[in-house]
Amino acid sequence: MKKGTKLYSILKLKCPRCQIGNLFSNPGLIVFSRILEMPDKCPHCEQNFKLEPGFYTAALWISYPIVLIVLIPLLTLGFLLDSMNSFFKLLYPLIILFSFMLQIPLMRIARAILLNMIIDYTTKW
Ligand SMILES: [Zn+2]
Repeated sequence: MKKGTKLYSILKLKCPRCQIGNLFSNPGLIVFSRILEMPDKCPHCEQNFKLEPGFYTAALWISYPIVLIVLIPLLTLGFLLDSMNSFFKLLYPLIILFSFMLQIPLMRIARAILLNMIIDYTTKW
């Protein structure tokens, strides 16, 4: 993945401005502690990550369409099955498992997307 692109910053969870500092105190897409804990500023370029109170509430509106994109095909597949019995035996556990697996990476990626919508990459900071 090429450094300097928004995709790099989002998927690697790096600071959108310098793309060196980590966005989260506990780096990585799949973590089980300190899931949403972010430093106040980028440890490398000192870009402010706490732009305004309640800023990351907007990340919900970024994760929502991503969830729809993932779950609508699964639900459509459920309607194509012969009976509701097979839906609840086969697909429903898969949807539940998939939702739990996606929860943490999705919350983190949504925050990274939100910051990348506002802050651009630059080498001069
Ligand atoms: Zn930075």
